[in-house]
Amino acid sequence: MDMIDPFGRTISYLRVSVTDRCDFRCTYCMAEDMAFLPKKDLLSLEELDRLCTVFIEKGVRKLRLTGGEPLVRKNIMHLVRQLSRHLKSGALEELTLTTNGSQLSRFAAELADCGVERINVSLDTLDADKFHAITRWGHLDKVMQGIDAAQAAGLKVKLNAVALKDFNDAEIPEMLRWAHGRGMDLTVIETMPMGEIDADRTDQYLPLSLLRASLERQFTLSDIPYKTGGPARYVHVAETGGRLGFITPMTHNFCESCNRVRLTCTGTLYMCLGQEDAADLRAPLRASEGNELVATAVDEAIGRKPKGHDFIIDRRTSRPSVSRHMSVTGG
Ligand code: SAM
Repeated sequence: MDMIDPFGRTISYLRVSVTDRCDFRCTYCMAEDMAFLPKKDLLSLEELDRLCTVFIEKGVRKLRLTGGEPLVRKNIMHLVRQLSRHLKSGALEELTLTTNGSQLSRFAAELADCGVERINVSLDTLDADKFHAITRWGHLDKVMQGIDAAQAAGLKVKLNAVALKDFNDAEIPEMLRWAHGRGMDLTVIETMPMGEIDADRTDQYLPLSLLRASLERQFTLSDIPYKTGGPARYVHVAETGGRLGFITPMTHNFCESCNRVRLTCTGTLYMCLGQEDAADLRAPLRASEGNELVATAVDEAIGRKPKGHDFIIDRRTSRPSVSRHMSVTGG
C-alpha cells in the first residue's frame, strides 16, 4: 500500500493548501493585486477530508495544512477536528499547520484541543514598520498576540523567516536570540522563484551559505542530526542553547530525501514544489462515491514524481522557475 516513487522515496508527508487566499501580501510571495480562485472551484471541507483520508490510508503519517493562509478558510476548524480522528486512531502521527499567525489568538486553544502539538509561524522581522512593509497588509502586534496564545495553549511554535538581502539579514541574530529566549526554534529559508511578483528576486535573494558564515562570526553553530520530517537541516547554537534550521532550496536541494507531495484547494496534486507537472484528483474524487478512482490517480501521480527541482535566480533568468505562486501550494 505504501506510496513509493520511481526513485525509491517513500511518500509519507502531505501538505494541503486549503485556500489560496491570504490576509497578507508578502512582497516576495505575491503581487499586490492577486487574482484568486473563484470560490466555486474550491473543494468543500468534506472533499478535502476525503482526499486527506485516502492519502493517510496510503501511508501518509504527517499532514500539514497551509495556504494561502489556512486560518482564513471559512470553518477551517471543522476540517481540523475531522482530521484529528486519524491522530486518535494512530493512523496519523502528526497534524500541523503553517500560518502567518494573524488569526492564531482566535484558534490556538482549539488547535491544541484537536491534537495539534506543533505549528510553524512565518515571521520575517520583529520590527513593526518593516513587518507592515514586507507583508503590505499585516500588523506585527496581531501576530505577537497569536504567538502568545499558541504558547499559552501549549503548542510548540517554530518560526520561519525567509532570508531577504538588505531586509532582515542584519536582524537574524536578534530574531535568533528572541526566538530561543522564548523556547522557539527558528528556521531561515531561501527565497524561491515562484510566480510573478512586483519586485526583482535577484535583489532579494540571499544564499544561506552567506548568512551562516556571517552568523558564525557571533555564534557557535554545530550541525545536529535533528529532523522534523521536513527539508530543514539544523544546527545547535551554543550561545542561546536553541536550534536554528536552514532550508536551502537554491544553494543545496535535498530532493534525494524528499518524502512530500502537495495538494491544492482545487484538488490538484503537485509532486514537486519546483515543477509544473500535476495531477487532477478532483475529477476522480467527484466521479464516484468510493475512493478507488482517486487511489489509482494518486498511484499514477506518485509514479511520475520528478527527481527534483531546478530553481534559478540570476540576472539572466527573468522568468520564475514555476508560474504558480507559493500561495497555491503553500509552505
Ligand atoms: N500563510 C501561511 C504562512 O504565512 O505561513 C502559509 C502559506 S505561506 C505561502 C508559507 C511559507 O512560504 C511562508 O513562510 C512564506 O514566507 C513562504 N514563502 C512564500 N513565498 C516564498 C518564496 N517565493 N520563497 C520562499 N518562501 C516563500
